[in-house]
Amino acid sequence: MMGLSDQAILEQLQALDRMHHLHPFTDPQAVKKAAPFVIEQAKGAYITGQEIRLLDAMAGLGCVNIGYGREEMADVAVEAIRTLSYYHSFSAVSNPYAAALAGKIASLAPAGLNKVFFANSGSEANETLIKLAYLYWRRKGQPSKRILISRDYSYHGSTLATTRLNGNAPMIEDFGLAGGDDVLQATSPFWYRCGGDLEPEEFGLAAARDVEKKILEAGAENVAAVIAEPIQGTMGAIVPPDSYWPELSRICTEHDVLLIADEVVTGFGRTGHWFAQETFGFEADMMALAKGLSSGYAPISAAVISDEIADVIEDKGGVLHHGFTTSGHPLASALALKNIEIIETEGHVEKVHADIGPYFSKKLKTLEDHPLVGEVRVSGLIAGVELAKDKRSREQYPLEASVCNHVGQMALVRGLIVRPAGNVVVLCPPFIITHAEVDFLVGVMRDALDETQRALE
Ligand code: PLP
Repeated sequence: MMGLSDQAILEQLQALDRMHHLHPFTDPQAVKKAAPFVIEQAKGAYITGQEIRLLDAMAGLGCVNIGYGREEMADVAVEAIRTLSYYHSFSAVSNPYAAALAGKIASLAPAGLNKVFFANSGSEANETLIKLAYLYWRRKGQPSKRILISRDYSYHGSTLATTRLNGNAPMIEDFGLAGGDDVLQATSPFWYRCGGDLEPEEFGLAAARDVEKKILEAGAENVAAVIAEPIQGTMGAIVPPDSYWPELSRICTEHDVLLIADEVVTGFGRTGHWFAQETFGFEADMMALAKGLSSGYAPISAAVISDEIADVIEDKGGVLHHGFTTSGHPLASALALKNIEIIETEGHVEKVHADIGPYFSKKLKTLEDHPLVGEVRVSGLIAGVELAKDKRSREQYPLEASVCNHVGQMALVRGLIVRPAGNVVVLCPPFIITHAEVDFLVGVMRDALDETQRALE
């Protein structure tokens, strides 16, 4: 504790932050206008700052799956730092934690995904997979396969290459990165917004076939990979119709295009299976893992590739010219290993599947009767409460009206953190959330919606 109860220290820190800290995904003007909220402590499902305690229904940014401040994790961190504070993994050097973690990930991953490259963030994992896809096709003698296909409403990261894959125009245009014919965007399987008159399952097939259309337009011989989140988390917890993933997977196989599953949010149990590929019934050639890998206790991510891709990369070439100083960092790897052990021993994946996940879904879906709510989408412990101006026509509120932000604000003042994303309130609570806390969450959400409705009248 830094002793923020001392008002003078708090104000000093806020002043330093406002002067020197450039915040991610933040309007710098907002930081200039208002003092940042300084979080001091977190335990279990709650964060505390400036004497306010909040139930964090976002698990940080959808990552703190085992909950905050666990003693076992602290013990492991201390031991790892005492034993091996750092060594790199370049040039065939390893450490016990990274080696064990690679083996553990391979043992949990869907069949055939057995080779793991370590990075530090979800963006880096995706960036690594893009480079490995290029390398694979080059070493296989098909260097023309360079085009990447992503979808509207995607989020794959903030590095140069991953930014271009995002389905959000300002994220790309602000940096002059729009254009180019090496990234194509297909329709998102977002039935509520894009499905029109089609039934969800019909629309799921149509959305998958839009990816096929893009492959055919570009020529399959020029397409390296399709990259997709099993559930599009950041842009609104978009759960696709059941028909979508098997069809998309079939299309990629038929046209010899790699399928990259961005499981940065969905990996490690969020949807009630270890990986969302199991939830939706498909097998990817590559997958990106981050957030839930260490429950946010350390920056670590993994780019996992199939045996077929690994064989080509390993057998048909020389050095892999790619890596990070902290790839396979001992401390981060030790924390990830312990995090996975906790998920296993406490049975969290099973609980998300059969206990807390269904309870969360049943309770949250009661909000569908609210006049402001168009749809509640849930898979495991990730959910989107989609607001609608007109439930029948599925018309949206204009974003300038800030209706969703108002709901988020009303939830916050009642002690609950949610994430407004456009017209969707996203929820991604930690796996340790209790039934009573779910009841509180849903109660607060209803009050926040009521309050917002009153403000609109
Ligand atoms: N991919 C997905 C699906 C994500 O949700 C995110 C982050 O929210 C990323 C990639 C990027 O991860 P990071 O912020 O760790 O770079």
